Amino acid sequence: MTARILDGTKIAAEIRSEVAAQVQTLVSAGVRPGLAVVLVGHNPASEVYVRGKIKSSQEVGLYSEQHTPAETSTTEDLLALIADLNRRNEIDGILVQLPLPVHVDSKKVLLAVDPAKDVDGFHPMNVGYLSTQRPGLVPCTPAGVMEILRRSSIPVTGQEAVVIGRSDIVGKPVAMLLLNQSATVTVCHSKTRDLPEVCRRADILVAAIGRAGMVTRNFVKPGATVVDVGINKITDPREFERFFAGNKKREETFLSKGSTLVGDVHPEVAEVAGAITPVPGGVGPLTIAMLMSNTVKAATLRRRVGVSELIRA
Ligand code: NAP
Repeated sequence: MTARILDGTKIAAEIRSEVAAQVQTLVSAGVRPGLAVVLVGHNPASEVYVRGKIKSSQEVGLYSEQHTPAETSTTEDLLALIADLNRRNEIDGILVQLPLPVHVDSKKVLLAVDPAKDVDGFHPMNVGYLSTQRPGLVPCTPAGVMEILRRSSIPVTGQEAVVIGRSDIVGKPVAMLLLNQSATVTVCHSKTRDLPEVCRRADILVAAIGRAGMVTRNFVKPGATVVDVGINKITDPREFERFFAGNKKREETFLSKGSTLVGDVHPEVAEVAGAITPVPGGVGPLTIAMLMSNTVKAATLRRRVGVSELIRA
């Protein structure tokens, strides 16, 4: 059996076009949702992510602005910037790109973001809204996982779901979203005993670990849906062979770029799973799409109206 591939690139494009239509509706009602991205210093990976976020904002018609404080900025400098963004009405979403320089108190900075503008959904207020099932802003990658399941007609209610990983940004919110949709949820981590056995219970298995190809076929019940959140870069040819031996297309990319991406799930799992998200092209593209969607959601929640009500207002 070969798993159905859950195409995140296609789903993300659908979401972006829906968001673009919502933005148009809001703009004709006199509101252009605005996103401010704060990028401190010069982290090459962060610069790539931020470029993607700004580009996507422009494509869906959001107002966007980028703030690039120097690497030497202090916690107080950043708090002043956040306070200013919190105050400005044309800014609906504030995203502080992590990691911040080590001398900055990241927790203090993130806590200063107005929860109504916290499009990353990391503020404790939004974490509380999620766990008590109140309207709020949900972290983008976990929200993307749920969109993949929903738009691929994968049932969640009453299903056994196992999440590997308990981080605040992925594992815990994914587990909470699955629970809120009435799955029976088990959360695993580095101290979990008999991990493969626990995972084999899953109808839906979500891997958010950060370890290349750790989830092998013996973790997976035949026919299960496997969502691979992991993004790991591999450069070692022996490791490449372990995952992609005989895959000519991958080999070409690996040889030309010197690296390739692999998820937390070994590619062999596609032979036993019923459905699986690829890496790249699975969960990854959803993260930015959900950021766009969260910015529109923030714009409407902040004004305490839906998109359609804004038109009448
Ligand atoms: P993280 O904060 O490092 O958390 C990793 C989790 O995995 C921890 O809970 C850890 O357990 C658990 N873990 C580590 N080794 C394990 C093992 N051998 N057995 C069982 N559990 C183990 O990572 P994260 O931020 O959640 O990210 C996870 C992955 O998702 C990374 O590859 C990251 O790059 C990727 N990611 C992708 C996107 C996207 O857009 N697709 C977004 C965010 C993250 P303990 O808690 O016990 O240490």
